[in-house]
Amino acid sequence: MTKPNTIIDCGCGASYERREVQLPIKDIGCFDCSDCGARLEIWSSRTVPAFKRVDAVDAAAKRA
Ligand SMILES: [Zn+2]
Repeated sequence: MTKPNTIIDCGCGASYERREVQLPIKDIGCFDCSDCGARLEIWSSRTVPAFKRVDAVDAAAKRA
């Protein structure tokens, strides 16, 4: 069973492509924005999210 990927937008402007992965054992973890450190998700199950940074137009135009 495959779920469509979704895009998670952090408040700082960073965007991440999120998909779900099935693991054989339960996993506990969390994902923080690599730019601002905001906690975007916490999980504790066999279905865990996987995040991939995507360069949105807004991110490319971001001022440091
Ligand atoms: Zn952020």
